[in-house]
Formats: sequence, C-alpha cells, structure tokens
Amino acid sequence: MKIPKKVNRYCPFCKKKTEQKIKEPTKQKASSLKRGGKIRIRLRGLWRGIGNKGRYSRMKNQQKRKRKTTKKTNLLYTCTECGKSKNQKKGKRTSKVLIE
Ligand SMILES: [Zn+2]
Repeated sequence: MKIPKKVNRYCPFCKKKTEQKIKEPTKQKASSLKRGGKIRIRLRGLWRGIGNKGRYSRMKNQQKRKRKTTKKTNLLYTCTECGKSKNQKKGKRTSKVLIE
C-alpha cells in the first residue's frame, strides 16, 4: 500500500486541520528470555530428543501452523505546527507499506 509522506489531517492538540508527516514507528523486539518464552524452553533442554514432552510437544506443532501473510499498518502522524504526534487508530491489513 502506497502512503503519501505528508497529509492534511485533524490535530487533536491544535484542534484544527494541519499538515502532518507520516512515519512508521520502529518495531521493538520482544524480550526473548521472558517466562514461557521459546528460547527459555530450549535452554532448559526441552524440544529435544524423542518421546512426548507434554505441553511442549504441542508447542512444536503450533509452529507448523499456517501464519497470516498480512499485518495491520501502524503509522505515526506528527503535526508540523505543534510537533506532537499521534498513532493511527485503525490499521488496514496489507503485506507492504510504502511511504512516498
Ligand atoms: Zn498540532
């Protein structure tokens, strides 16, 4: 989906329509060593060898499941007048976001 760099949009801080820049916020990586995390399970030595590993055998099967090919867009609108920014409320499903 092609998206313009600048857009005229309502700014809730200025309470009027202003020119706003569009940016895609950088994604934050989830910590891999959280409780119940897949990396933590691997460090414990599960997911290895043969036989039934209880609930972790099931988790291995979940990886094989089909995943969604599209993601919802996450855009950040920054007002050029006050400099404040706001996130997009509803994202649309697309496979790619091109900001021009
Ligand atoms: Zn503003």
